[in-house]
Amino acid sequence: MSYRLRVSVFFLVLLLSSTCHAQPANRVTILYDSFGKNPAMTVDWGFAALIEYGGKRILFDTGNNAQTFEHNVKAVGVDLQKLDLVVMSHRHGDHMGGLAYLLKINPTVKIYAPKDRSGVYGDEQSSTTWYRKDASLPAEQRYYGGAPPEIIHMGAAWPGANFQLIDKNTEIAPGIYLIALVSDKPGTLELRELSLAIRTPEGLALVVGCSHPGVERILQEASTIDPHIKILLGGLHQIQALDPEVNRIASVLHDQYKLERIAPGHCTGEPEFSALKKAFGDHYVYAGVGTVLNIP
Ligand SMILES: [Zn+2]
Ligand SMILES: [Zn+2]
Repeated sequence: MSYRLRVSVFFLVLLLSSTCHAQPANRVTILYDSFGKNPAMTVDWGFAALIEYGGKRILFDTGNNAQTFEHNVKAVGVDLQKLDLVVMSHRHGDHMGGLAYLLKINPTVKIYAPKDRSGVYGDEQSSTTWYRKDASLPAEQRYYGGAPPEIIHMGAAWPGANFQLIDKNTEIAPGIYLIALVSDKPGTLELRELSLAIRTPEGLALVVGCSHPGVERILQEASTIDPHIKILLGGLHQIQALDPEVNRIASVLHDQYKLERIAPGHCTGEPEFSALKKAFGDHYVYAGVGTVLNIP
């Protein structure tokens, strides 16, 4: 082998090995939504996304229907056996419908879910505070014969699933945060919702399910982690909001919180899509079902 040939082979091997060891892409794949332009995917009301960041694979919600979720997951070749963790944003059916399929493929994966009082993801309560006691009653009329267990466990709708219940802001892995807020809005009163915030060198990547507690409150919490939001993805729950409120939210996101980019989906609402497009211009990122977008 001539010297020049040996040098070329050396650099070729170097190039190949550096490509093989390159960090996997940081990106989000929308797996479930009711709009999109990928003919291989089925559109349906609901939300699910795969977030790949820093080598971690996070499934955020599971869509509305297990068959449709399965179809969409297979259409983009996502392997649900290779997940580091799952986040269930809240207890609404259009985010939980695919859980049955997820658990069939990956029954032991760690699933972070909001702790709702006696909620569908299960619950536990201290027997000291769960109910008032009356020691004057005969034992057979008293709960647990008057000697309750310390903790009272409430069953989950998916027995055996590895739920980790969250009731406050939590850093679940280095740079990966769950924001836990409770809605005070009529219709979703007392519903707890988790949003996912990932710290990147250029600000936060924030993923929201429905924003039932209000996107402003979520942004307020996220700002305490990092005031610069690189990108916001997901549902903003403005489907029925009237124009003044639609426009107010667009300007709050653009002018007050100064989000760098926005990739709204799900329950954001058609008029809100329009308003955000106008406010963000080419910093508005299309994210329908099947869209893959890179997080820097
Ligand atoms: Zn929803
Ligand atoms: Zn919802």
